[in-house]
Amino acid sequence: MWCIVKVRVPRKLESLLNELTKESARVWNETRKFILSQVDLNELLNLMSNKKSKEAYTILNALKWEAQKVVKSTILHSQTVQAIQDYLTASIKSYLKNKLSNESHNLPREVRWYPLVWKNQAIKFVNGKIQLPLARGKDKIIVPLKKKHKKQLSKFLNEFNGIIRWVVITKKHGCYWMHVFIKAKDVKADVDPDRRLFIDMGEIHPFVGWNESNNEFVLFNGRYIRSLRQLRLKLIAKKQSMLSRKQKGSRRWRRIKQSFDKQIWKIERKIQDLECKYVKALLDYCLEHRIGTVVIGDLKGIRDNNDKGNGVNQKIHNMWRFRKLIDRLKYKLSAYGIRVVEISEEYSTQLCPVCGELNKPNDRNYKCKCGFEFHRDFVGALGIARNFYNFELKKGFKWLVPEKISVKVFKIDVAKAVVKSIVVCLRPRSWNGTPATRRSSPVRARNPAL
Ligand SMILES: [Zn+2]
Repeated sequence: MWCIVKVRVPRKLESLLNELTKESARVWNETRKFILSQVDLNELLNLMSNKKSKEAYTILNALKWEAQKVVKSTILHSQTVQAIQDYLTASIKSYLKNKLSNESHNLPREVRWYPLVWKNQAIKFVNGKIQLPLARGKDKIIVPLKKKHKKQLSKFLNEFNGIIRWVVITKKHGCYWMHVFIKAKDVKADVDPDRRLFIDMGEIHPFVGWNESNNEFVLFNGRYIRSLRQLRLKLIAKKQSMLSRKQKGSRRWRRIKQSFDKQIWKIERKIQDLECKYVKALLDYCLEHRIGTVVIGDLKGIRDNNDKGNGVNQKIHNMWRFRKLIDRLKYKLSAYGIRVVEISEEYSTQLCPVCGELNKPNDRNYKCKCGFEFHRDFVGALGIARNFYNFELKKGFKWLVPEKISVKVFKIDVAKAVVKSIVVCLRPRSWNGTPATRRSSPVRARNPAL
């Protein structure tokens, strides 16, 4: 499991770091020049197309060692220089590979600045400060940590037996950030792979799940995160319309761009933070109920051939970052030994879980001719379960309608930006054959939270 602690580097180190990132770029550019002058890339490509990639890589690696003798730095730590050269050769390799397989490829370019990297042995964490060495005879860079970062870091190092593997200092939106990468051992949690949670991902609610073992529904309320995403899009649109009226590159243009970028990035970070918190809440739920398998709808292909008009297009293409969310989920859960399975989600929201009839819901409610009426996303979660049974286990799926349905709602506490859970109990009407009599949905009427 990888853990990352991100820390903003204090302003007083800025001038030093400016100098160092320039030096780092110099190392990159000179190594690049050296390697490209010594080797004929077409020859390497020929070797690789004749299935002699190993030889090509050996040539490149030998050149990297040569370069380490030629290109040196009097300011940067020797391992930092090595790391930059490693990255360079790796990117030349991937350039060759992509060119052969006809994917998009770019030869590494000359740069004006380059991030700083430190490797494990060089980094020290003493007295709540991170010490990063420079070349011999130079003072170390010392980055103080805030209380919360100290706590985070010592948790990863002590509780999870982690080791600091890398520290990267990079520039983003006008200030420097230090990323501490910690490799920790995976935790073997007490979970049962036969206990499953089926999750349908939606545009309004990021996760809606059905817990098979106790017939409970879990709903992650996503209204707040959705509003943030809308705000982000609105700002991007406004930025573009304002920039289009100014001359590109002018002072006014730059000012506007900077100001909008700052605001957008702030919202972006809020969204990312909330996504992390949702995933954490889901993890906690799984651990609490000893769930060992999480089945999630495979959304591959939803962006292809899916033109549904402006509004829906915007939602699907710009706002819904499900891939990122699934990756985050997989990464986090697998560290605790919980398996994440992706299953096709065809018809998951359309087939009735009681009688199997095909219906297309128009609003947030699912209605069937057999009288079954339910929250649409819950039907989706049941549909994922049905697909999992049909495709993966090759067994039939039967949902035994319970007397009472309990729903656990995870809501964002906007003021504190933490996710907390509430338990709601629903009493479903008898829908076996009896048509609906009341207009409003039982789910919505009793639970304004949904
Ligand atoms: Zn039905």
